[in-house]
Amino acid sequence: VYDSDEFQRIEKTLDIIVKIRNALDNSFFMLFAQPIKGFIDEKPFYEILVRMIESENLLLPPGVFIPAAERYQLIQEIDKWVVKNTFEFIRNQQNVRDCKFSINLSGKSINQEMVGFILLESYDIKKSNILFEITETASVQNFSTSNQFITILTDAGFNFGLDDFGSGMSSFGYLKQMSVDYVKIDGAFVRGIVNDQLDCQIVKAICKILQKMDKKIIAEFVESEEIYEACKKIGVHYVQGYYIGKPLPLT
Ligand code: C2E
Ligand code: MG
Ligand code: MG
Repeated sequence: VYDSDEFQRIEKTLDIIVKIRNALDNSFFMLFAQPIKGFIDEKPFYEILVRMIESENLLLPPGVFIPAAERYQLIQEIDKWVVKNTFEFIRNQQNVRDCKFSINLSGKSINQEMVGFILLESYDIKKSNILFEITETASVQNFSTSNQFITILTDAGFNFGLDDFGSGMSSFGYLKQMSVDYVKIDGAFVRGIVNDQLDCQIVKAICKILQKMDKKIIAEFVESEEIYEACKKIGVHYVQGYYIGKPLPLT
């Protein structure tokens, strides 16, 4: 049955897939970095965020192309591009040798092939300075595969974190069995910490348990001084958000 809305949606998706393919073939991606401030650990720390170059002065945010890339099996190629180019950047810039970087990995990139790729590309990279962020939902969906993936790369020296914790399929039960060192609390709760009593209690409860589990806690979406102070008081270890610094081109 012809449905004009559906037809438009398909056309839009096809258009984005063609753009991603083209970007992968021509390296039309760009890396941004957003600072993460540690309250105890003062080592410079940045999260790598990818953008797709649509034209000379138009960059597409990941929200526009990552869902389609995940659905049409292109995400692993994007994640590889990001890993390779981040390592290359670290290799070429003497002054970032001692910085920590976190790199996002899609649940679809958590497999044996990616383990090999990361180990090969990181031959002269200080692995303890790299943190891989896996979205919690993605890791929970393939629990045994992701745990194996995490174990091999942790043994090689890398760090792991769960991203967006608290949303989606959150489970402390899984977290208990998962060998991740860092947990990033979902920004949706953090940004409400000052004005929404419930958000505040949720963040406090999550932190209390994470502290007992000896996890390093990162709060994202720290957008104001009030949120920053509240996070510090609650005992979060790292803060990230527009108040600390916006994502900027990695140079
Ligand atoms: P994420 O990993 O949770 O990254 C945080 C997102 O929140 C980023 O959006 C960042 O720009 C934005 N943000 C940071 N501080 C604030 C704040 O104070 N307020 C608000 N409202 N937003 C803030 P971005 O760059 O659009 O990335 C969106 C998502 O795309 C990321 O969420 C991550 O899941 C995914 N992503 C980004 N780069 C990659 C990548 O290289 N590979 C994969 N697989 N996913 C990526
Ligand atoms: Mg992230
Ligand atoms: Mg996040």
